[in-house]
Amino acid sequence: MYPLRHVAAVALPVIGLLAPTSPAWAEWLSDQQTIMGTVVRVELWSDDQPAGKAAIAAVMEEMRRIDRTMSTYKQDSDVSLINRNAAQKPVTISSELFDLIARSLQMSELTGGAFDITYASAGQLYDFHRKIKPSEHALAKALPAINYHHILLDRKRSSIKFSQIGVRIDLGGIAKGHAVDRSIALLQARAIKQAIVSAGGDSRIIGDHRGRPWVVGIRDPRQEGKVVAALPLSDAAVSTSGDYERYFEANGMRYHHIINPTNGRPVNGVRSVTVLGSDSTTMDALSTSVFVMGVEKGMALVERLTNVEAVIVDANGKMYYSAGLERR
Ligand code: ADP
Ligand code: MG
Repeated sequence: MYPLRHVAAVALPVIGLLAPTSPAWAEWLSDQQTIMGTVVRVELWSDDQPAGKAAIAAVMEEMRRIDRTMSTYKQDSDVSLINRNAAQKPVTISSELFDLIARSLQMSELTGGAFDITYASAGQLYDFHRKIKPSEHALAKALPAINYHHILLDRKRSSIKFSQIGVRIDLGGIAKGHAVDRSIALLQARAIKQAIVSAGGDSRIIGDHRGRPWVVGIRDPRQEGKVVAALPLSDAAVSTSGDYERYFEANGMRYHHIINPTNGRPVNGVRSVTVLGSDSTTMDALSTSVFVMGVEKGMALVERLTNVEAVIVDANGKMYYSAGLERR
């Protein structure tokens, strides 16, 4: 196992500890920027420095483009436009956004409704920066609007409609994974064979770091800078959801950003969920879902899926590993 050099918000690649014997004209290039309210990091192996740097710049621009179209913090994003209008009339959207919303609905089906982008009807009532939570009355009023069945997609017209007023969507549980997958596709199109792209807790790796797998650390949910597990990874996607990313404490409770769609409240019982698989879009939604489902149901879902593994830290700090990781 490789020593971990430093620890980012959630999971982070450790690189460059054992410098590969490299010809002078090939090298690891990296950059890090704050986009989508989180740290975006790209690292890749390139034998053509200008081309490598251009590839990194293209990834950063792709992240910014997705943020512009999908952020609910931006009034002129496509998602904000949907939220303003889709209860009144169908809203025509790009095929990219249509497909991601359709994928979100599939994840709702897969997780028995634990993943539900209409959580936002209640989710929008929380403000974690300003430590604001909804009143019981406001929460009760918002609840009927949480149900992914309220989202009506028309593939022929590439449009979305909400079946009732009050419905809102937020892609915060899946958009970063989508952005990472798009970025990896973009790098592959540029013939990059070795890379890691991370957006906050979502990372995807192509290649094997030239024979020395990347090591992704799972941070201790209660002690910043400490790591509870380190996973050597190649050609994989990994996503962590934690209750420490966006939260505040009030009257002995931790109010954080992962919401149970059945009651509109932050989920107790789990501190962090890390899932490993092949694509970031699925892993992003799945880590949020397993968090909502809890240790027992969440792990049962992971075991049912092929090529998916998980590490869960529960409310007491106890760790649970899926069977495939136990074996490793
Ligand atoms: P992060 O955004 O820190 O990477 P996650 O991947 O766990 O964390 O996603 C949490 C985000 O998912 C929240 O900030 C919110 O936007 C969204 N979300 C919260 N609860 C749900 C839910 N039950 N279903 C779908 N999305 C959710
Ligand atoms: Mg997630």
